[in-house]
Amino acid sequence: MTDPTTDPTFDSFLDVAPESPFPIQNLPYGVFTPPEASSPRVGVAIGDQVLDLALLTENDLFSLSAIQQERPFSKSSLNAFMALGASVWQPVRERIHTLLRADTPPLRDTPSLQTQVLHDRDAVTMHLPVDVGDYTDFYSSEHHARNVGTMFRGPENALKPNWKHLPVGYHGRASSVILSDTNVRRPCGQTRPNDDEPPVYGPSRLLDFELEMGFFTGPGNSRETPIPIDEAPEHIFGFCLVNDWSARDIQGWEYVPLGPFLGKSFATTISPWIVPMAALTPFRVPSPEQDPTPLPYLQHEGDWAFDVDLEVDLQTENMTTPATICRSNFRHMYWTVCQQLAHHTVNGCNTRPGDLMASGTLSGPTESSYGSMLELSWRGENPIELPSGESRSFLEDGDRVVMRGHAQGDGYRVGFGTAEGTILPASCE
Ligand code: MN
Repeated sequence: MTDPTTDPTFDSFLDVAPESPFPIQNLPYGVFTPPEASSPRVGVAIGDQVLDLALLTENDLFSLSAIQQERPFSKSSLNAFMALGASVWQPVRERIHTLLRADTPPLRDTPSLQTQVLHDRDAVTMHLPVDVGDYTDFYSSEHHARNVGTMFRGPENALKPNWKHLPVGYHGRASSVILSDTNVRRPCGQTRPNDDEPPVYGPSRLLDFELEMGFFTGPGNSRETPIPIDEAPEHIFGFCLVNDWSARDIQGWEYVPLGPFLGKSFATTISPWIVPMAALTPFRVPSPEQDPTPLPYLQHEGDWAFDVDLEVDLQTENMTTPATICRSNFRHMYWTVCQQLAHHTVNGCNTRPGDLMASGTLSGPTESSYGSMLELSWRGENPIELPSGESRSFLEDGDRVVMRGHAQGDGYRVGFGTAEGTILPASCE
């Protein structure tokens, strides 16, 4: 049965430009406060507007008992809605789709209700959409892992022996996940600039971005009850853009033998709108071929890569317009999101509504598709030349990084908005 919510033939009664990231086929969720209101609530982006799901509930436009009882859209995060599971997510999505369609009357023919429940997207204040309880960052692009491994260990040892047997990851810091457009202060810390001298304390000199996507879990699994790989899709609520800001010099000195710590935990930026799994279903493409064949708990059928174009823009203080320095795609993953979630829970680890699982840096096969400055400048050996005449090996103070992504449909695009941030100077004592 086809899902009406992704049918390209439906239009909204609202004007939505063909290049808008938020057509009726997308319907991403976010948390916002309308102008002249005091409390955050859940909304859906449609064109240049935001549909207020809390007010729709108050107006009895959701007949679902779970929504009536739990009132998840009056909360300041999506966690309560994520906890309700796919059996509630899909009927809610279908109801919102029906309300916004050009050929259905309840909202279209009630201008007084429209005035109440639709807000200009420019006028609302967005908030971090999820109370992130746990954050895991995977390392699932083979191109990225090979690039970094080649730089630091040589091409023969680029991939560690485990890499093609399990999706490598580390536990990130949930408390410093921040909303797009929050500025990022250059971190201070311990580094060892010269291998023959003792470490020093001061501002990171090798500040970098990592182009990633992430998914949020819900409803999650209880401890000691792994999520079988075929059930993984029911536990994936939706996707966002992720910038895993990285201080390479702090990271390089600290990470042996236990992995990233302060080189990563100062900030991780996410985009404000969470695109539901259902909206990306038409953009699923064949999963990558895997050799060797993974163990049975990591085997699954079907197309589980996603064709989502991604790009990174960089704007220095001297530039009037940003320059695109990377074009990549979410499909550049060796391990699928289902494999990531099955592996994450196979030891009995529980996940909760609102856990963030990031992909790892999404580097593609070509130099212009590398998803970090580390790779784009090849450790600083080939600095990136910018239209302003400046060059960059790593980020400097005042640099603004903007990530965006979209899946191109037939006459519409499912977009993610942006994950952006500007580097502020360090303030090391
Ligand atoms: Mn990362």
